[in-house]
Amino acid sequence: MKSLSKLFIAGISLMTLAACGNQESKDDIGGKEEGKLNVVATNSIIADMAKQVGGDLINIHSIVPVGTDPHEHEVLPEDIQKSEESDVILYNALNLETGNGWFDDLMETTNKTENEDYFPLSKDVEPLYLTSEGQTDEADPHAWLDLQNGIKYVREIERILISKDPANEDTFAENTDAYVQKLTELDTQAKSTFDDIPEAKKLLVTSEGAFKYFAKAYGLEGGYIWEINTESQGTPDQMAQIIDSVKESEVPVLFVETSVDSRSMERVSQETGLPIYTKIYTDSISEEGEPGDSYYNMLKWNIEKIHEGLTQSRGEAKPLDE
Ligand SMILES: [Zn+2]
Repeated sequence: MKSLSKLFIAGISLMTLAACGNQESKDDIGGKEEGKLNVVATNSIIADMAKQVGGDLINIHSIVPVGTDPHEHEVLPEDIQKSEESDVILYNALNLETGNGWFDDLMETTNKTENEDYFPLSKDVEPLYLTSEGQTDEADPHAWLDLQNGIKYVREIERILISKDPANEDTFAENTDAYVQKLTELDTQAKSTFDDIPEAKKLLVTSEGAFKYFAKAYGLEGGYIWEINTESQGTPDQMAQIIDSVKESEVPVLFVETSVDSRSMERVSQETGLPIYTKIYTDSISEEGEPGDSYYNMLKWNIEKIHEGLTQSRGEAKPLDE
């Protein structure tokens, strides 16, 4: 199956090359412009971090579109073309892009080499592991939801861009320092944000168990329906377990992520009588102009709205937009 899909991808790649010929990049937002590094990111969060570090000196393209799950992805001819034209490819690693093996397939198809052409941004992160039976040796990928880890990603992007374009070292370093300062301030503030919430209410309920790093960094407990997007989502067993833990706690509201199917959480809401307070961001930023349209803005929104939601009174809580 795997080799078949590789053949298929390779086939598309040849067709793409034949079809595009030499007219590459004219009307193409991420295409090559003289003097700029072509940077490809696997998802919109990493793309935004790279934009903050690279500014006008890079062209940036995100493979997985805004609002979409990066764990699994169907590789498109455009992805192959962008990857082939890139000077550098940034990915999360840490078991994120592994769902259907799409990233490894893409790197193999386009003959890319790790630490020369493509780089894992989580390399300095201390991993947390999945807890579900049979998965305890698999890393949880959502490290960026702890801002201290996000800062490690950003420093790594700085190092990589400088190595690819040393002439612009000063600009990359200045951009990074200013950005890291902003992220550090938000992190410091978040560390005491949840202090005023009683322990029994400190349960952050989401669909995917994406908040391990966040919960550890900011003093909450994460509850979820399924642990990671690559497993079956919303099975009867998973539903029964989360409904039990919600009922045993005093948590007043539930949350749902922007990049998952919300129907399972809507069922938890019906079964427990608790409202879904609002949408929060895990695996994607939002479209420009919406509240989570950058890595900084998505974390800021999550911190504020999770706090707002958890300070409601159980039984009287209303969804944010009502
Ligand atoms: Zn996820």
